[in-house]
Amino acid sequence: MSSPFAEIHFALPLSRGYTYRVPESFDAITQVGCRVLVPLGKRVATGFIVQRTNKIDFAPEKLRDILDVLDEMPLFDSSRMELAQWIADYYLCSLGEVLRTMLPPGLEKASHQYVRLARAPSAEEIAQLENRAPRQAEIIRALIGKEGYKVGYLAKHLHYESVRSSLQQLMTAGFVEVSQLMQEANASAQKRFFVLITKTGQEFLKTADGRMATGDGKSGAAKRSSKMKSDQPSPKTDGRSLTTKQLEGLKLLGKWGEMLRAVFLKRSGLGRSSLESLMKRELVQLVERVIERNPYFFPSETQPALAAKTEIPAVILNAEQANAVERVTAAMTKERFEVFLLHGITASGKTQVYIETIRHALAQDKDALMLVPEISLTPQAVARFQANFGNLIAVLHSHMSAGERYDAWRRVHRGEARVVIGARSAVFAPVKNLGLVVVDEEHEASYKQDSPSPRYHARDVAIVRAKKSAAVVLLGSATPSTESYSNAQRDKYTLLELPNRIDNVPLPSVRILDMMTWRKTAPDHEGIFSRILCEKIGEKLAKQEQIILLQNRRGFAPLIRCVQCGFVRYCDACNIPMTYHKRGNLLRCHYCNAYERAPDACPQCQSLDVIFKGIGTQKVEIALNELFPQARVVRMDLDTTRGKLAHDRILREFGEHKYDILLGTQMIAKGLDFHKVTLVGVVSADTGLLRPDFRAGERTFQLLTQVAGRAGRRNLPGEVIVQTHSPDEVCMVCAREHDFKKFYAHEILEREALRFPPFARLALVLFRHRDNERIRGIAQDFVALLKKVGGPFRVFGPTPSPLERIQNEFRWQVLIKSDLAKDPSAHQTRATLSRVAQFFHKANRNSRVRMTVDVDPISML
Ligand code: ADP
Ligand code: ZN
Ligand code: ZN
Repeated sequence: MSSPFAEIHFALPLSRGYTYRVPESFDAITQVGCRVLVPLGKRVATGFIVQRTNKIDFAPEKLRDILDVLDEMPLFDSSRMELAQWIADYYLCSLGEVLRTMLPPGLEKASHQYVRLARAPSAEEIAQLENRAPRQAEIIRALIGKEGYKVGYLAKHLHYESVRSSLQQLMTAGFVEVSQLMQEANASAQKRFFVLITKTGQEFLKTADGRMATGDGKSGAAKRSSKMKSDQPSPKTDGRSLTTKQLEGLKLLGKWGEMLRAVFLKRSGLGRSSLESLMKRELVQLVERVIERNPYFFPSETQPALAAKTEIPAVILNAEQANAVERVTAAMTKERFEVFLLHGITASGKTQVYIETIRHALAQDKDALMLVPEISLTPQAVARFQANFGNLIAVLHSHMSAGERYDAWRRVHRGEARVVIGARSAVFAPVKNLGLVVVDEEHEASYKQDSPSPRYHARDVAIVRAKKSAAVVLLGSATPSTESYSNAQRDKYTLLELPNRIDNVPLPSVRILDMMTWRKTAPDHEGIFSRILCEKIGEKLAKQEQIILLQNRRGFAPLIRCVQCGFVRYCDACNIPMTYHKRGNLLRCHYCNAYERAPDACPQCQSLDVIFKGIGTQKVEIALNELFPQARVVRMDLDTTRGKLAHDRILREFGEHKYDILLGTQMIAKGLDFHKVTLVGVVSADTGLLRPDFRAGERTFQLLTQVAGRAGRRNLPGEVIVQTHSPDEVCMVCAREHDFKKFYAHEILEREALRFPPFARLALVLFRHRDNERIRGIAQDFVALLKKVGGPFRVFGPTPSPLERIQNEFRWQVLIKSDLAKDPSAHQTRATLSRVAQFFHKANRNSRVRMTVDVDPISML
């Protein structure tokens, strides 16, 4: 027998492992990496077995038993378990939270307390209760005529904080009963009934066929059957013969061998009773089987056709592509961890490089992960990979149902799927022999998980995972992140370049319009469109070409920007636009907490029109309809893409030219290739540029480059028009010149001067509470404590978050900047922060204060 106890971890914040006893009967199946059901406080919860152990550090009589082991096979092998531990340490969260995140959603079983009436009280009893204990009476009335409620729901329903003590009394009085019920996990294997033809059935068909074939004496069976008349009973029957429909059904089944029952009934037109009589005669049988839910399933019959359609001839790589593939493959062959950064301009053939390197991985019997931003995971993108790798692909997409994701995940777990394509969380896919991780658009902010914890960055996790598995990482982008490109410059990563577009399709011409002057020409009421952009739109509409218009969402926080002269107030120390806070009429830098009184008039030109929030897509749509009533406009933003497939549908219909103009937020920058788009307009590049974030310039450059890449194709040259109040910003100039390197050279100097990543590491601690003064005080205490403990870092704040208040909660934040010289990987900083955070959490346990720590934050809001 192995160790008698097991250390179990739960997906709860800041929770450590707890030790449970392993009942003898569970000894063999209590394996590390499986889930268990255990009592936790008053409930039953799912936990993860992290290790078996001999030790307990508490009184043995407090030891409780594992109630059940939920998995036959471990969900985590030792390498993914190690990865989980690394993530928990690095991102300062509990191991259980990480383990939960690494699994497909919906696997958690949980128990809930249900309450229902034990007996119907008389009217008199209710009246009595009403006087004595009105809350209890209210509960009884809520339960009358109902099956029962979850206790938590009942409390909410009746608007009470808690109903427990009332329930206790009602229980003692015998009015209600409370029971624990397990809520089934909503992702579990799905079973379906299949109809199979039996041996007898096959025999029967042969004879029946013989008979149908008018008995020309070909076989013995045919001869025998030819003697049978159609109404004669067959050997194994109950004396009645088959109807024509039943015979046809049996033939259908003879052809397929087995069919889903539902499909069989539909195709054969038989009813259930007919099926039952076939079963009674033992011609068919019914079995229940686990099925795969795979929306991307590729029936093998259609595979060649689809493959032919997508990849017409085998692609011959150009010299740069071939070099990239060779370098990556060579590292893979040597099983040497290495990170490659593939810098290739838009449409330079990066995806083809991914495909070929994955092909090499498979040839070396290795598995591959292909990460793409959620928004690029379109059916077309998936089809391109499927055309190459067929059913070796598993897709993990958040738009799939929990069941579909669970099934895809299990195909990977069983080793049937060996190329996993998916967004952020696909980095955790349970492949066995990892050889390659591709991260497309590695600069994308969506690789960072915002919430819940763990707030991990999938690109960085990919690198750590690959390192642990001696695998290779291929990061790709047309506009690499400053962090990654600097790693390539310092030879931490190997740089590979695709400097030309496939077939040398020219890059579009980009024109930057200074709205300070062009605004005056605007033909719409709001001053949204310049005359130039309008003329261009009209021109393209007349030629029946298509147009993409980009308008990022409104600013998150108001800023001071003068409408007349363009003046913007930046923080002197951080070079970040200061945000305007109505409370106290202040301007604040939420990096260093500098603040000052907001000016009433522009300090430069005395104009009074100084508060800026940006324009939303809806306003742009209204102006557009006004200016071009005949144009077919489709808008794509968070509001119009709520539905499961709305996003894909809009892009497809635009591709089919059902619309002339696609207007949207940055989500339109990626996706399909549109052959008829010859004009891309950026309505206002300023909303993004003025975000109070040190990456605002970088983001704007990336977005402009990406969206410009959507204009023009082989035979139709593309044009891009960018409207802005800051035409001289480096990101604008470099986007116009398609010059990433120039942009990087400038950006890296600024990052160095201001000590932002990669020259420092950041952590952002956010405090939330309904009471503003209270939470501010708590955040101040936190800062004081952190400063007192001290270490190789600087602490800024607390300052109100740019989004000062969300859903009635006030938000204060603290920024921690590690000193890279003294603490190169910020190890010490994180250790100190972790200790202080743990301490703080305990001290404030009962205060409903919420504190979250974001290591390497991407969003500073
Ligand atoms: P990116 O990922 O850089 O945008 P893709 O790999 O999608 O570029 O390539 C752009 C287009 O060029 C695609 O239609 C692709 O099929 C095609 N393509 C890529 N490489 C080659 C090649 N070596 N020869 C011909 N066509 C190619
Ligand atoms: Zn001004
Ligand atoms: Zn500042």
